[in-house]
Amino acid sequence: MTSYAYLLKFIVQEIPGLSISCTGGIYLPPFHLQEFCITPLLSKIDGFFRTELPRIITTSKLSWHYNLRCKTCYFANTCRKEAEGTIAMIPYLSYEKAKDLKTIIQDWKSGDEDADIEDLAKYLNDIDINDQHVNTNKVKQIVRYDKKLKTSPYLKVKPERAQVCI
Ligand code: SF4
Repeated sequence: MTSYAYLLKFIVQEIPGLSISCTGGIYLPPFHLQEFCITPLLSKIDGFFRTELPRIITTSKLSWHYNLRCKTCYFANTCRKEAEGTIAMIPYLSYEKAKDLKTIIQDWKSGDEDADIEDLAKYLNDIDINDQHVNTNKVKQIVRYDKKLKTSPYLKVKPERAQVCI
């Protein structure tokens, strides 16, 4: 709704006497109008249209992460299939943690290819479990590394369980 108001504001800016209200509203059942102020969100929407969107459109390689928030997305089925073998196979992995994980594994391995679940398995095989380096600890924590098994239970997750969101 804020995007809609933002775009309408842009369209009518040169029409004298016409302005867009900063109050939005949603009708809740049965007939209750719930109003709210959209002003705090306008700067975020402005940042998205002026900075984020141009960056996304002009980037040749975009990183994406299939996650719980994808649940209602129209492309969820396609992305879930494409996510097989990637870090997104780890259930309930947030975008932020996936980003950390990918960065750490990417730095550890050489090459330009994105870090995937196989790289993660190799990383876990390679690390010294007593290593207390901040990155190693972060990876162990994110993947719930099992010291006895010397692996992560997430590495055994079947594709259909990835992110368990559909
Ligand atoms: S399902 Fe795919 S397109 Fe939709 S939000 Fe998730 S990653 Fe993006």
